[in-house]
Amino acid sequence: MDDQGMVLYPESTFIINCQGDACVGDVVLFKQRVYDLFNLGGRCSVGPAVGVRSVAGRIVNESYGSAKQQHTFTIEVLWSKGDRPLPPLYPLIIKGRNLYRIKTLRQAWADESERKRKLEEKHARGAQARMERRARISGNKIDNIRPMMCNANNVPGWQEKDVVSSIVLRFKSVLAGLIVGKHLKNLNELRAVSHAQVDVDRDPEDPAHCVVKITGTEHQRQVAISMLNAKTLCRFFANKGNCSNGEQCSFRHHSL
Ligand SMILES: [Zn+2]
Repeated sequence: MDDQGMVLYPESTFIINCQGDACVGDVVLFKQRVYDLFNLGGRCSVGPAVGVRSVAGRIVNESYGSAKQQHTFTIEVLWSKGDRPLPPLYPLIIKGRNLYRIKTLRQAWADESERKRKLEEKHARGAQARMERRARISGNKIDNIRPMMCNANNVPGWQEKDVVSSIVLRFKSVLAGLIVGKHLKNLNELRAVSHAQVDVDRDPEDPAHCVVKITGTEHQRQVAISMLNAKTLCRFFANKGNCSNGEQCSFRHHSL
């Protein structure tokens, strides 16, 4: 285990669920099963899983093979722990669908809007490639094919996951100050990183609680919820599984 890597990229900083969308530049954390490889007369065979390791790394490359379903990420390992941990700088190649299937967390970018731009470019390239492939198959000229679906803002490439909706979360009112922060610092950060609309208010029916309304796409809501989770979860409870403050504890003893 590389301690330096764990100090520079501590586990607690991986707070955003990748939600099936990752790109070059993401610093990600995930757990993977470890398998034994057997060499059977030149053929490789995979045995049963022999353990689990955590891997933190930076996505340094993404490639699409010519064959179907050969979308892979190359991840430069920052640190790894558990069974047969990988050494730092090890270039781990992982299939895109495998990375998306496991729960992959990432750090927030210093500039999340830059990441958003990169992802949009990537999706646009993907849409273009799919359109060209369809055109080849159907024998149509690409010029004849236009993206058909648009959302309310007329953005091409509309998808189900772009639907904007709201969720309301309740917290003990003592947590409102922490959620909002001094001079709105925390609330502004929450809004800037998640791109969701976030409003904090008193619970009109219960003075002991406040309500946080999050409006945005599924991804934006998920980012905001992850950040609120990290901010308001009781450290004692999260680390040790119990907290001597019990019911009196100001922080949450369950995940959002
Ligand atoms: Zn507690």
